[in-house]
Amino acid sequence: MSHTPSTAVIGGGLAGVICARRLHEAGHAVQVFEKSRGIGGRMNARRDPDGAWWHGAQYFTAHTQEFEAQIQAWLADGVVQGWQPHLVTLTRYASHPAPAGRRFVGVPANSAPVRHTAQGLAVHLSHTVSHLQRDDQGWWLTTREGGRLPQPFQRVVLATPAPQAAALLATTSSPLLPRARAVNMRPCWALMLHYAEAPALPFDGAFVQDGGPLAWVAARHGSHQPNAAPGWLLHARADWSQLHLEDPPEKVARRLIDAFGDLGAPPPERWQAHRWRYAMVNHPDGVPCAWDPAQQLGLCGDGLLGSRVEDAWASGRAMAHHLLKAAERPA
Ligand code: FAD
Repeated sequence: MSHTPSTAVIGGGLAGVICARRLHEAGHAVQVFEKSRGIGGRMNARRDPDGAWWHGAQYFTAHTQEFEAQIQAWLADGVVQGWQPHLVTLTRYASHPAPAGRRFVGVPANSAPVRHTAQGLAVHLSHTVSHLQRDDQGWWLTTREGGRLPQPFQRVVLATPAPQAAALLATTSSPLLPRARAVNMRPCWALMLHYAEAPALPFDGAFVQDGGPLAWVAARHGSHQPNAAPGWLLHARADWSQLHLEDPPEKVARRLIDAFGDLGAPPPERWQAHRWRYAMVNHPDGVPCAWDPAQQLGLCGDGLLGSRVEDAWASGRAMAHHLLKAAERPA
């Protein structure tokens, strides 16, 4: 008789959802707990009456055959499309064409492949897991919104940014705790600029390397959202964001709008700021996923491998693979 232990996946970003999907397809009972009102994590969009803002992940690329095959499947399902904007790299003195490469985006937004992958899974939104406790029945999860869940799980997978996983692991005695703590994640200030008329800039998006606070700028009304009202998204550099992490949004906005002005853009009509506290991975763990067999606890997410959508996907997939192999072994 096969043994398929129940699994709780904490975090409904790409890593958690891919892991849950694979377990579900193999016949395992799996439930996903996500603290936000929607899934997608850092691939999520922020909705506005005049169009969505892709204020997190901008696009994704494939560096492995495995992820290329996944992208081909998403293309066939219509949840991903190629993205070919006019991209440049701006230095202090010159503008160059950005490095060539195949870039992809979700349709209608970057969270689309995550939502598609989550179809048919048991996903609990607005469930912030705040505490993990283990007894001889398994893991009991407590959520901030609803208290202790009524049933235990035999296994738990943490698929949150590593510092948030570390906060949960701190309530356990798992050796995964130092692994999660060792992953350094950097923040990113994002600024969304609203315009009545689209500023006439000679690019759709730019990697900014001029020594100022900006790292990336992209037109919302460009090729990925032609029907949205005119708008530009700005991402600040990680080191600048770290330095200004606790600054008031007004101060951050002033600095970033000034820097955008230096690129030739007029001041916006209005703006919104978003602070990604855990945006990019600085020192990834280097292995795709981590598993504590004694406590039946797993750790995955981009913090294990790198700072890209592809890394999150590879990590979640590796976690599922590991759990499926573990379940095949006799107890
Ligand atoms: P996440 O997407 O962070 O998912 C983790 C989930 O866990 C979140 O939904 C969170 O709400 C949830 N969670 C956290 N704590 C709890 C809790 N206690 N209980 C329940 N749920 C919890 N990558 C690219 O490839 N290309 C890009 O252009 C790109 N640009 C980026 C720009 C920015 C500003 C940011 C922030 C990221 C960017 N990335 C980019 C990185 C990419 O978005 C991430 O690598 C990827 O989305 C990470 O997926 P994940 O599943 O590991 O984590």
